[in-house]
Amino acid sequence: MSNGFYAAPKPVNEPVLSYRKGSQERKEVLNTYKELYNKTVVVPLYIGAEKIVTKKQSRIFPPHEHQHTLGYYSQAAPSHVTNAINEALATKSKWEAISFEHRSAIFLKVADLIAGPYRAKINAATMLGQSKNIFQAEIDAACEFADFLRFNVAFAADIYAQQPAQGEGVINRLEYRALEGFIYAVTPFNFTAIAGNLCAAPALMGNVVIWKPSDHQMFSAKIIMDIFEDAGLPPGVINLISGDPVMISDIVLAHPSFAGLHFTGSTEIFKNLWKQIGNNLDAYQSYPRIVGETGGKDFIFAHSSAAIAELITAITRGGYEFQGQKCSAASRIYLPKSIADKVIAGVVENIKQFSIGSPENMNNFITAVIHEKSFDRLTRFIDQAKKDDDVELLAGGTYDKSTGYFIHPTLLKTTNPHYTTMETELFGPVVTVYVYEDSDWETTLELVNTTSEYGLTGAIIAQDRMFIEDASARLRHAAGNFYINDKPSGAVVGQQPFGGGRASGTNDKAGSALNLLRWVSPRLIKETLIPPKEFKYPCMD
Ligand code: NAD
Repeated sequence: MSNGFYAAPKPVNEPVLSYRKGSQERKEVLNTYKELYNKTVVVPLYIGAEKIVTKKQSRIFPPHEHQHTLGYYSQAAPSHVTNAINEALATKSKWEAISFEHRSAIFLKVADLIAGPYRAKINAATMLGQSKNIFQAEIDAACEFADFLRFNVAFAADIYAQQPAQGEGVINRLEYRALEGFIYAVTPFNFTAIAGNLCAAPALMGNVVIWKPSDHQMFSAKIIMDIFEDAGLPPGVINLISGDPVMISDIVLAHPSFAGLHFTGSTEIFKNLWKQIGNNLDAYQSYPRIVGETGGKDFIFAHSSAAIAELITAITRGGYEFQGQKCSAASRIYLPKSIADKVIAGVVENIKQFSIGSPENMNNFITAVIHEKSFDRLTRFIDQAKKDDDVELLAGGTYDKSTGYFIHPTLLKTTNPHYTTMETELFGPVVTVYVYEDSDWETTLELVNTTSEYGLTGAIIAQDRMFIEDASARLRHAAGNFYINDKPSGAVVGQQPFGGGRASGTNDKAGSALNLLRWVSPRLIKETLIPPKEFKYPCMD
């Protein structure tokens, strides 16, 4: 412990590199892509200081070339889960005793490793394992991940600096303790940064973690663990357990020292985990913190005053970037009749210009969807739409899974604002448009507000300032992240803290102090300098 108040560095968003033809970063990432493509890795379980390769393994493959093998990941047995919990708990007292300056230094080093020597590798792994094009990989695996780590250090320092007022003859202190027990981080496939942040954020606040990544993010998960190790994160602080999520969760959530869930994924799974936690409540030492960011059915509502070109771009990027596999992707679009034809024609034209294929070809805007289950589900919706009377196919509608899970970006137009693709989260490159009479904008806003169970993101596009103010108020609870004249996706850490309400989650805003506050349990310490020596009040003299 040093004698000095450590000032955390002021965080700055990691600049997004361009990967233009001829650039050094482009060469590096393509070479690394080839290198990783031509090797096979085996991802072990990380339990304390041990890396355990199990006999039971599952294959890792690129979604855009599913016959190619990138490697295998280990499937945990129940005893591994128990051992990981024991290792985490054995590390706990040492880890929470490490001063913030040293704890934070580890995560700042992780950020610098990601932005520097590991940048090409974590991007290439995200391109290969999750089928992101280089732009999408760069803003996620390199920039957003580094941003989460650097901003969280600054947010944590701000939290620790918040102290109570002092009284006469009394010193009051707040100690921001880690939670008593361990945290369970369960992460989705679609963002390498979210996977890393969900385990790193509680660990930064002094907690120990069991991390269960998605089966479909295991390739970049290994690189995250390598980086943690290189940065000097002590073994046992973050333990990676992969395999059957039900078996793993059953063991973790039954443990008396389970202290918190940090989840991102689909709504139904989160609800079930919450119920399971509720049922086990009597077994726990404390009330577990439950943080979950889940699904969305995100909207763009255009007003008749909308600028057409901006609106077309917002729909195109917001709906189809990363094949619509963002929780924030725009998937229901409300267009006023007066501009609908022009806007639809513009979006269809953009879709025609999309090149589709492997992310290794940097001209490709669209790559594959994550896995066969998702492909089959999406194509069922597309096939049904082709048959239904109240919906029209405007673009796309074709698909092919012979080499990779490719779905042609699809644009639907419906006359039924409650058509299934206006209400259900699809998580794929399918966008549905509903056209309303210009004069019905108020009732249509009510429709936007009440159509889906979610409340994650949404955008309004308009030039009319009176409308902007009115719609912002009417849609107050429709989205946790609300955008004016922009697409509803692409949140930047430190600028647009992210999360939604209603069925979309607990809205604890990843990438903000609000999230970090969930991973501490403050202890108030009052010290009295000259304590009273008799019990009588002054009025009793
Ligand atoms: P998913 O729900 O299929 O999986 C998420 C995690 O839960 C994975 O680690 C998975 O293995 C685990 N899991 C699956 N079944 C489980 C079970 N029965 N018990 C315990 N854990 C279980 O989600 P996904 O396909 O990886 O990601 C897509 C979903 O995530 C979408 O619904 C999307 O909207 C959501 N998402 C939300 C945000 C947000 O910030 N709101 C961000 C990214 C993704």
